[in-house]
Amino acid sequence: MKAFKCLTCSSSITVSDDILTGEIVECGACGQEHELINDGQNYRLEFAPEVEEDWGE
Ligand SMILES: [Zn+2]
Repeated sequence: MKAFKCLTCSSSITVSDDILTGEIVECGACGQEHELINDGQNYRLEFAPEVEEDWGE
């Protein structure tokens, strides 16, 4: 498991070790979405980019 902190509410977020870079991690407490970043040595979370998904029609 990897442990991170939510950038919004500082709750701990744990993800499994097999998570892939670029995956979206959602905070269980506040729902903030984060993107998993790997800077070459360490994993960290950044705010997920706001993706203009088509909201379905
Ligand atoms: Zn949060």
